[in-house]
Amino acid sequence: MNVLVINCGSSSLKYQLIDMTNEEVRAKGLVERIGIEGSRVKHTTVGKEQVVIEEPMKDHRRALELVLNALVNPEYGAIKSMDDIYAVGHRVVHGGEEFANSAIIDERVMEALNACIELAPLHNPPNIMGIEACKELMPNTPMVAVFDTAFHQTIPPENYIYPLPYEYYEKYRIRKYGFHGTSHKYVSQRAAEILGKPIEELNIITCHLGNGSSVCAVKGGKSIATSMGFTPLEGLAMGTRCGDIDPAIILFLMEKEKLSFDEVNTLLNKKSGVLGISGISSDFRDLEEEAEKGNERALLALKVFCNRVKEYIGAYSALLCNVDALVFTAGIGENSPTVREHICEGLDCINIKLDRELNKIRGKEAIVSRDLTSVPVLVIPTNEELMIARDTVELVKK
Ligand code: AMP
Repeated sequence: MNVLVINCGSSSLKYQLIDMTNEEVRAKGLVERIGIEGSRVKHTTVGKEQVVIEEPMKDHRRALELVLNALVNPEYGAIKSMDDIYAVGHRVVHGGEEFANSAIIDERVMEALNACIELAPLHNPPNIMGIEACKELMPNTPMVAVFDTAFHQTIPPENYIYPLPYEYYEKYRIRKYGFHGTSHKYVSQRAAEILGKPIEELNIITCHLGNGSSVCAVKGGKSIATSMGFTPLEGLAMGTRCGDIDPAIILFLMEKEKLSFDEVNTLLNKKSGVLGISGISSDFRDLEEEAEKGNERALLALKVFCNRVKEYIGAYSALLCNVDALVFTAGIGENSPTVREHICEGLDCINIKLDRELNKIRGKEAIVSRDLTSVPVLVIPTNEELMIARDTVELVKK
């Protein structure tokens, strides 16, 4: 039973074909530069060599057509025909307040997705384009939307209402939504499995640290607080996003630098974060290398990033009362022992103690805490695609 998982960005399309009888990936790939010169599909069927298909793609429909062709290609494909695809699961960034769970895609869901565009103007339109393309090319295959925001719909109002006039929540749905929900859900469930305890009994703090980063407080398997907000700009300092700052800085800068709406938007989303502080890169590999060579600003950027994560861990341990596990995931969380070490430094006060040797691990599941009396600290590679495929099968079977 194969499920095709699709994640559409504005000019990219990531996909995985997962056999849900054993939850193993059969093929995966990435389409880059859709609608731009130099577009290509990088396709890999497990057990076969990667192929790169370079062809102009004017839109997501053409990109998907090439992906489907690659999947059924007799030489480098993974399946005989499109009938071998049981269902398609789509990652959708914003489901607003409408979706606390994944949903079978029908007309009502499409309307709701369109209504959420104003909440995620950069992310939802490409997600919708991917769905539309699939509907055209595979009209008889069931499809499911899995939302980044859904897992956080259990956050209580006292943790999602902003201290702004309440009318703006009523009028514009301005509230905290949170993102990376599929990832926080996956790693918290996996942590419970690894620890051999029912998730209902656990308080877990999950740190999804990648190009975009967020922390989540998971109580009994439910999100009760998260660092991203109305948009993915709030919270931690990220690769290029500023995270939490005094909102008055924006007004100050607009006046001093005579910045337009678009300029402020670019400044906060694309030129800030660790890139903004270091002036070097948004990639932690570059920052760690430069910091080691003695670059002060690269080091400062790393310190700011780690301290922000530490602050959220402190805040969420207060909200959760006691913490049963701390989890690191995503590009940085999975692969940077240095960042994990800096974050956990000095957290002995809340019984979080890393083992330096165990913490040397990269990209693999591991428990990296020092002893059995301290809070278990886990590294768990995230697997959003598998979560999407699981939800897809569950809903389609129903
Ligand atoms: P993601 O958004 O989850 O794909 O994470 C991407 C980020 O992970 C990159 O921008 C890097 O900063 C970071 N990353 C990936 N590999 C490493 C590594 N070996 N050491 C430190 N950071 C890494």
